[in-house]
Amino acid sequence: MTDAAAGAGAAASALPPQPVPNADTQGFWDSLAEGRVALCHCADCGTWMHPPLERCRACGGPTRFDEIAGTGVVHSFIVMHRASVPGQPAGAHVLAAIDLDGVVGARLTGRVVGIEPADVKAGTRVSARIVDVPGGPYRQPEFVADAAP
Ligand SMILES: [Zn+2]
Repeated sequence: MTDAAAGAGAAASALPPQPVPNADTQGFWDSLAEGRVALCHCADCGTWMHPPLERCRACGGPTRFDEIAGTGVVHSFIVMHRASVPGQPAGAHVLAAIDLDGVVGARLTGRVVGIEPADVKAGTRVSARIVDVPGGPYRQPEFVADAAP
């Protein structure tokens, strides 16, 4: 494929892929639509799960979606230097797995913004904010780096 052909394809599909909720994940997307971040949590043993499951992977108990603070630290990350999917920034940007305050055993992934990619480190403190997924009705979390102390 030539660069011209790649550019034409990118322009034709500049919107990102849309989430496809199912019975297990619907509560996660519903919470984001309501402006909060909630993760799947076992009502019996307290195990956190993401991706969500209908039944607890540890004890088989029923699960529910419990709101979390949305704050945490970067566990690991990559710096992307080009868009990995349509609708992503063309320049350098960070995708990270986030260890969430008050959540053990589950992480969220997302973009880290508000910081130069070269300055992101494991342990960088972040706070979730909910943003629209362009091209559809869904919202998603991205993570804003906290200001340096
Ligand atoms: Zn359980």
